Amino acid sequence: MPNNYLLLLAVCPEYMAPGNDYMEVPVISGEEDDVSVSISDADSKVGISVTRKAGGLPTSSVHELLECPVCTNFMYPPILQCANGHTLCATCKARVHNRCPTCRFELGTIRCLALEKVAESLELPCRYHNLGCPELFPYYTKGKHEAICTFRPYNCPYAGSECSMVGDIPTLVAHLRDYHKVDMHNGCTFNHRYVKSNPQEVENATWMLTVFNCFGQYFCLHFEAFQLGMAPVYMAFLRFMGDDNEAKNFSYSLEVGANGRKLSWHGVPRSIRDSHQKVRDSHDGLIIYRNMALFFSGGERKELKLRVTGRIWKEQ
Ligand SMILES: [Zn+2]
Ligand SMILES: [Zn+2]
Ligand SMILES: [Zn+2]
Ligand SMILES: [Zn+2]
Repeated sequence: MPNNYLLLLAVCPEYMAPGNDYMEVPVISGEEDDVSVSISDADSKVGISVTRKAGGLPTSSVHELLECPVCTNFMYPPILQCANGHTLCATCKARVHNRCPTCRFELGTIRCLALEKVAESLELPCRYHNLGCPELFPYYTKGKHEAICTFRPYNCPYAGSECSMVGDIPTLVAHLRDYHKVDMHNGCTFNHRYVKSNPQEVENATWMLTVFNCFGQYFCLHFEAFQLGMAPVYMAFLRFMGDDNEAKNFSYSLEVGANGRKLSWHGVPRSIRDSHQKVRDSHDGLIIYRNMALFFSGGERKELKLRVTGRIWKEQ
């Protein structure tokens, strides 16, 4: 993993354990000049730790005050407080059964308007700062940017498993090769044979992935089997390991055939920001109906044997 890529898993604190009556509350300190602002998001399981020189003691303290003591995420309105002034995010209020995690008093519905106002005046770095995003955003609009930030990590493009790996492209290429044992190829043309001994088993969908390195970029060639309405089909399509605006600079073609027949597809690779499921559901690729696939395979419908050829090129 490159040094500038720091990935932290957001871990649920122990208080979530049923029957656990006590919890530890982080001690808030803000005496140092260099402060570490930990930005995490329990939903996406990604957190980026940003260390920046504080513009003075008050700013660092405010950053820390804005962290919910339970989930450690930054708090957004309504920010709640107990009668003793301890703050908590709205999401965590339900989790702690309406008891202040710091003093155990009942929480009620008191909002901490002062802290909400202070937050409004703050600017924070994008949470993908460590991945290269240089932007600063007002506290309340930061999330909107982060959802579309081009520096945000990609999900693992491997299909057919719930892989939770996220990262930049070099990280994911290494992950596909080492963890998923995906075939890697150099070059912009392909000539692939897909063989399956029992082609009746479309329900146990087949996913195959090959990664191509060409034009200094990485492309995922997918081959999948699934039911399209009542008909079992095979589908081949290409995804680009990068953002959509770059994917549009490339085109690809796919061909499959035998016995003097040929099916071909000419398309634009989809970004891996679009899941393989989404691409599949939009039928954005070469679709081969099973009867045709078995015809191309020759033999007596006992074996699937398809030869898919194709090419990637750059549009000028
Ligand atoms: Zn919280
Ligand atoms: Zn309290
Ligand atoms: Zn950003
Ligand atoms: Zn993976």
